[in-house]
Amino acid sequence: MSVAGERCSYSSLQVKSTKGILVSQTEEKMALPKRRHSHARTHKRRANDGLTAPCVAKCSECGEPKLPHRLCAGCGTYNGRTVVKFEEEELD
Ligand SMILES: [Zn+2]
Repeated sequence: MSVAGERCSYSSLQVKSTKGILVSQTEEKMALPKRRHSHARTHKRRANDGLTAPCVAKCSECGEPKLPHRLCAGCGTYNGRTVVKFEEEELD
């Protein structure tokens, strides 16, 4: 069993099994922080947890919303020139 203030992660434990025989077991303990930290420390950590919406630009060729410095998914152009030609989907 553990003694108050003991900080080791394992302690040996002798337990009587169902047949009455002494069996030694190892009891695993969770690591615990030495002391609590302040609200300010928590808030400082969480100050950078906020998410920002992605920047959306408008394609100069087709006007579709697209990510800046990326190929347009609507028409396949980048910086005024066609990079990818999309094939027309066949309709039944
Ligand atoms: Zn476009």
